[in-house]
Amino acid sequence: MSYIQKAFKVTLIPNHSQEVLINKTIGCARFVYNRFLALRKELYSAEQKTLNYNACSQQLTLLKKEIEWLKEVDKFALQNSLKNLETAYKNFFSDLKKSKGKKGVGFRKFKNKHGCKQSYKTNFTNSNIQLIENRLKLPKLGWVRFHKSQDIIGNVVNVTITRTNSGKYIASILCETEIQKYPQVSQNIGLDLGIKSYLVTSNNETVDNPKYYRTQTRKLRSYHKKLSRSVKGSSNRVKAKIKLARSYERITNLRDDFLHKLSTRIIKENTVICIENLRVANMVKNHKLALSISDASWSKFITMLEYKALWHDRIVQKVGTFYPSSQTCNHCGFINPQVLDLKLREWSCPSCDNYNLRDVNASLNIFCEGLRILTATVGIPEALNACGELVRPGAIQAEIVEAGIA
Ligand SMILES: [Zn+2]
Repeated sequence: MSYIQKAFKVTLIPNHSQEVLINKTIGCARFVYNRFLALRKELYSAEQKTLNYNACSQQLTLLKKEIEWLKEVDKFALQNSLKNLETAYKNFFSDLKKSKGKKGVGFRKFKNKHGCKQSYKTNFTNSNIQLIENRLKLPKLGWVRFHKSQDIIGNVVNVTITRTNSGKYIASILCETEIQKYPQVSQNIGLDLGIKSYLVTSNNETVDNPKYYRTQTRKLRSYHKKLSRSVKGSSNRVKAKIKLARSYERITNLRDDFLHKLSTRIIKENTVICIENLRVANMVKNHKLALSISDASWSKFITMLEYKALWHDRIVQKVGTFYPSSQTCNHCGFINPQVLDLKLREWSCPSCDNYNLRDVNASLNIFCEGLRILTATVGIPEALNACGELVRPGAIQAEIVEAGIA
């Protein structure tokens, strides 16, 4: 048993005045973000000075005396806005450092009413947030009912309230919770992520790509058409907008569900999971593949594998993008340049005559390369038992889990 942080998502059913207050709070959080972004920009361009979180926080206290309506909403929402801004700034400066003056690193943008995530975050202190059955008590809002779809276990750390594009209110409740770790297993695996199949494992298992967007294209297209034909400002337009947003949300939910189930199963069945370190951003530039790639949500999938690995003492080992996993014959190590052609699904090795199925061969190579890197970096050849299988993952991972980082 160890402690982890886990988020539980529920759909809120606010009454009218609660709905008004949630929207107000989201608006105020955005106002604070933009106001301080402007201030920081101004200070930076005029005097090259940076305004840190503490300084902003002091200014916010003064601002609240000036602007009455900021006092009406949850104070944590406003503070967290400043924290988000601080993080955005830190990321901006580290991106700038990495880019070494190259173009492409944008300055932080102002948030607007459309296109940005409409949400605010509140923190737990002195039982200001409580949970009883299907009711959630939130600062300023009081008790809000929600649809209960799962048991929420643990101590609440914070809650993020989001208004989706279709007008639903979602609360993501982050809890510190005890976790029952999966039993240890001796199997390890390599995964080759693809478009034709979602993934092919080194054990020769193929998981089909559900392609949710592709299957819903016709529906989405008709909703888009209805929206573009509707008159601006009409109630039909509002209805069409909500319908379209709902179908996008449904696709996201279906896909998340698929990714959760698949990542959980892989973590349960294996100790070491070797995977290619995909650079999705670069791949999405290839327009022909772009839709399929973003539909596949590989980076989300890898993130899920990584945090679940921490929860259950598993290891996710990434293999560099430049490793020629498809071209190398897993049997003899010969590199076959012909395999660069994506159409070539299977090939006989010119050197050892081994018959290679493209994806299985790639996943086997990723598996071997992953184990090699792991042995070289963590230095745990003694952890490999007589069969060459890993018995225990490194102590480093276990420590991270103990510390409760999720
Ligand atoms: Zn060969």
